[in-house]
Amino acid sequence: MKQIIYYCDRCKQKIDHLPYKLIVDCETEGGFSAELDDYTEQRAAEIESIDFCPKCLHQALELIDPVKTEEEPEAEPEPEQPKRRKLDMGKIKALHNNGWPPKEIAADMGVDPNSIHQALYRLRKAGEIA
Ligand SMILES: [Zn+2]
Repeated sequence: MKQIIYYCDRCKQKIDHLPYKLIVDCETEGGFSAELDDYTEQRAAEIESIDFCPKCLHQALELIDPVKTEEEPEAEPEPEQPKRRKLDMGKIKALHNNGWPPKEIAADMGVDPNSIHQALYRLRKAGEIA
């Protein structure tokens, strides 16, 4: 009886059962596979042809950090943006009524001036301020 023996392409060790594969895929928003560009497609084919032993697969997976689940959308780095917090509309209204310019209200509350402009716009639309 013939038995196919697989060897890990990375560490050249014999694989006990079947080799592991890394599959490169690019999914679009609709859940369909997008076409890869030529270079990526070539690299994907190379990667998919590699037989991994469990140890090398785990090492490869450890390179992917943080580990992303399918549910989690890719987080965009926004280090410049201040933390989103709920604005104290009452305070904005009070300061505005005391004649504070939006820039000073923003500085006092530690938020982006645009947030104050938006808050004032909402208050004005709601008829809360003149
Ligand atoms: Zn290996």
